[in-house]
Amino acid sequence: MGIVVQKFGGSSVATTEKLKIVCNHITKEFEKGNSVAVIVSAQGKTTDKLITEEREITDSPSKREHDVLVSVGEQITISKLAIMLNDMGYKAISLTGWQIPIITDDHFGNAKIKSIRNETILDLFKEGYIVIIAGFQGINENNEITTLGRGGSDTTAVAIAASLNAEKCDIFTDVDGVFTTDPRIAEKVKKIDLISYDEMLELSSLGAKVLHNRCVEIGKKYNIPIVVKETGKENSTGTIVKNSKKLEDMEISGIAKDDNISRITVMGLENKIGKTYKVFNLLAKHKINVDTIVQSFGESINKNLSFTIKSSDLKETIKILEDNLEYLTAREIIHFDNLSKVSIVGIGMTHRTGIASKMFEALYEENINMHLISTSEIKITVLVNQDEADRAVKAIHKKFFNN
Ligand code: ADP
Ligand code: ASP
Ligand code: MG
Repeated sequence: MGIVVQKFGGSSVATTEKLKIVCNHITKEFEKGNSVAVIVSAQGKTTDKLITEEREITDSPSKREHDVLVSVGEQITISKLAIMLNDMGYKAISLTGWQIPIITDDHFGNAKIKSIRNETILDLFKEGYIVIIAGFQGINENNEITTLGRGGSDTTAVAIAASLNAEKCDIFTDVDGVFTTDPRIAEKVKKIDLISYDEMLELSSLGAKVLHNRCVEIGKKYNIPIVVKETGKENSTGTIVKNSKKLEDMEISGIAKDDNISRITVMGLENKIGKTYKVFNLLAKHKINVDTIVQSFGESINKNLSFTIKSSDLKETIKILEDNLEYLTAREIIHFDNLSKVSIVGIGMTHRTGIASKMFEALYEENINMHLISTSEIKITVLVNQDEADRAVKAIHKKFFNN
């Protein structure tokens, strides 16, 4: 008998009725003689609600106190689930991130897991307990509560699976696997039965929130297969994310979209060695996550430098850059808001031609303008207006999968 790790997301634990369905999944594995660790998210939209209530107080809360607040939702779920399992006659116990502990760095709001003390869980297994663990939260070396970033319970789950040397990690959610794109956006989406860590990592980093990107990174590093499936669905095989080499690659595996993107341009940056470095060094010091970067040809004495960030970092980024215009020897900072990234991903791209042209044709036919393009070996990303992004995804999906 082995160790089974199961994770249930917000919509799977949203109500008491749904918690009962979750209990069925848990007890089914336990009855087979397995030791079961369960990671859960906050119920339904609890985390969003907490953030809305925080904004009623201020736009710029202390990062430490923000994490104390948003970590609360998961604690409600673990206790309710343990109470329900106890009521059904099972030995179950809830654990918060700090009780294990899950030690993280001190990057509040986006902390990285440094270590997990698995003895706490293994000892409870020996005593016959089902162990219910709060996702999304940890504790830094100063005993302060941290959180792992939105959607971070997936990362807690795979990290726990790795620390327990589990055979796999089951992620139960509200869709029955990973599809060719978000089933809530496009029609006739196809389920992907098997996907490599690299492709899944690109998809989730580019906005496919079905898996938190860092859980895929951990899965790859520790070779833990991640199985995504729908809560309540009997005998689902879902999607398996693991090291895989398919005999025949599709042109692309999937399409991802990420909203709430802003583009910043540093205008008139002096065209000298080290100036670009200074901009990004400044932003790194303030822990601003910078994405796609484009620099104009520096054929004159000045150049323009554009990059994308999450819109939630916009205010802070503009302030940092404007306060340092002189230090950077730049003329002006301009920005565009309400943008989305739309990306196609697939290993098949590496040995095929015409993939970019097919994507751009779909956008041209829909009359959608691209504000920025960036590519890597297995992805092409374009920046479009947010109010056109769903239409872009639909058109690209139709072009590649329904033609
Ligand atoms: P949970 O609360 O269980 O963690 P999430 O809402 O974080 O669930 O993730 C599941 C959602 O991810 C789905 O409801 C779906 O809308 C979205 N999603 C985005 N891209 C994809 C995709 N390629 N395949 C499946 N779901 C996707
Ligand atoms: N509750 C957190 C969030 O809503 C973490 C998670 O659901 O994975 O982002
Ligand atoms: Mg999620």
